[in-house]
Amino acid sequence: ADNRIYNFSAGPSMLPVPVLERCAADMLNYQGSGMSVMEMSHRSKVYDGIIKETEATLRRVLSIPDNYKVLFLQGGATTQFAAIPMNLLKTGKADYALTGSFASKAYKEAQKFGDMHAAFSSKETNFDHVPTQDELDIRPDADYFYICANNTIYGTEYQYDPETPAGVELVADMSSNILSKPVDVSKYGVIYAGAQKNMGPAGVTVVIVREDLLGNYPLEKYPVMLDWKTMADKDSMYNTPPTYGIYVLGLVAKWVEDMGGVKAMQERAEKRSSMLYDYLDSQDFYKTVAAKDSRSHMNVTFRTGNDELDAKFAKESMAAGMSNLKGHRSVGGMRASIYNAMPIEGVEKLIDFMKKFAEENK
Ligand code: PMP
Repeated sequence: ADNRIYNFSAGPSMLPVPVLERCAADMLNYQGSGMSVMEMSHRSKVYDGIIKETEATLRRVLSIPDNYKVLFLQGGATTQFAAIPMNLLKTGKADYALTGSFASKAYKEAQKFGDMHAAFSSKETNFDHVPTQDELDIRPDADYFYICANNTIYGTEYQYDPETPAGVELVADMSSNILSKPVDVSKYGVIYAGAQKNMGPAGVTVVIVREDLLGNYPLEKYPVMLDWKTMADKDSMYNTPPTYGIYVLGLVAKWVEDMGGVKAMQERAEKRSSMLYDYLDSQDFYKTVAAKDSRSHMNVTFRTGNDELDAKFAKESMAAGMSNLKGHRSVGGMRASIYNAMPIEGVEKLIDFMKKFAEENK
């Protein structure tokens, strides 16, 4: 692991070094099979063992109840923006909390399929906060209520599971905070996430769906690839699944388990993020972007208030061995993405750099 830098990318992001080492060791000849996992038929016995183990590990780590299906799909989280209404709409109505760019994109995509309603929006304050339960205006006859659990670009995160009226399923995009804390899966109808931040390489999307929600998809008019039931019935192998990504995801889930599970990940995440927020709150050179009670444990956003200084920060931090600290173009400033694989040392190094930069540029 020599010469690696602290990569604060929002995604694809750092992976645990033991996982990468294991990939390297397995690369040419996976456990005596004589081939790389990349070269294996997805119908082979060896690969069948890999995908089953990935699913079993993920189920243990996230305590996924037996009445939920776990799907490994392609197309990224963005494909699910359409697949969600396509699979879940019955009355044709659904409600969305607009807390950022990805929630808004999901809402816009869903409008092609039915009557969509914004149950909340923080757009006017450039998505600097997520709603409290009281602020949610969810229609009692909606089929589902949709949230983006962690808003990667703005650095905001729900600190609670929203409650919905009876019969309204809770659906969550957990792309940027899955595996970072325990989650009570039974409160959700659907949880989904692209893998490339906290679970593995880009190319796999995990959908966790309660079984009784399957079977409403109008297969006669919609593409078979987006039908969750088809994928569930075929154990994600209706066609060729993203085989290598699923293998790496299994290794990452095992790493989480070996490290003490999602509870340990939560402790680590709270430590990393509070080090940064405590420092940010203790000075006035940098300003935080997200409202205090909405702050994300995964993406910490801040700015100097001066675009030129922000650009200088990005450049000099890169030269100091920390990459991807430039904020998203829609927010500006800086963003430190500190997912599960980011060591405390990376955050210490970042804070040291921030102090020095503030001293030199105030
Ligand atoms: N949702 C969230 C919360 C994200 O952070 C992202 C990617 N940055 C997406 C959805 C889109 O994911 P993908 O690129 O896998 O379609």
